[in-house]
Amino acid sequence: MTLIIAAKVIWGLGIAAWYVIRHPYARQSRRVATLRQSDRVQERALLACASLGLFIIPLVYVATNAPRFANYPLSPVQAALGTLVFAGALWLFHRAHKDLGKHWSAVLEIREQHTLVRTGVYSRIRHPMYASFWLWAIAQALLLPNFIAGPAGLIGIGLLYFLRIGREEQLMLDTFGDEYRRYMSETKRIVPGVY
Ligand code: SAH
Repeated sequence: MTLIIAAKVIWGLGIAAWYVIRHPYARQSRRVATLRQSDRVQERALLACASLGLFIIPLVYVATNAPRFANYPLSPVQAALGTLVFAGALWLFHRAHKDLGKHWSAVLEIREQHTLVRTGVYSRIRHPMYASFWLWAIAQALLLPNFIAGPAGLIGIGLLYFLRIGREEQLMLDTFGDEYRRYMSETKRIVPGVY
């Protein structure tokens, strides 16, 4: 098996693991009533950008090697690094789902009986789930040796993150007030102690 095929298989296994981790929360999330919600159309558009970059474009590359002009050789160090980062991303993704539990939702919203989670990985950073997506996008850029399919995830998650984060924190401030203000003063967004 060539290195590129191995890297593609690892990427595919990561997608499968992502689905297994998220599925129970997605099911549960459909059963909890929503109280307050951000603009649906904008939210859906951002999610579509993220799935294009993190799933559709890399899937087309993995299945067909397209776009071929953007292919380059993969080094074992790059593939190993990508695998490590991917493992870290999945671990954090799993932990964030466990800690956020029923408060998780794909779009920005406040649920019935919503409480502020500040435990587990949320005690270190405010947005561990978005941090796991950044790690995932970095892993994708390392694992897929194609100048378009590789970095596509960084652009997808970058759009979702930067166009959502301010509104998400504002929604949390509007809902939890001083409790969230205090939480903001004690934690950083995605890199502990740095940003
Ligand atoms: N930004 C977080 C959560 C992403 S899921 C992260 O990256 O880990 C998005 C939903 O989580 C939003 O609808 C918001 O209402 C909710 N949320 C975000 N931070 C939260 C927290 N600390 N406690 C409870 N709910 C939270």
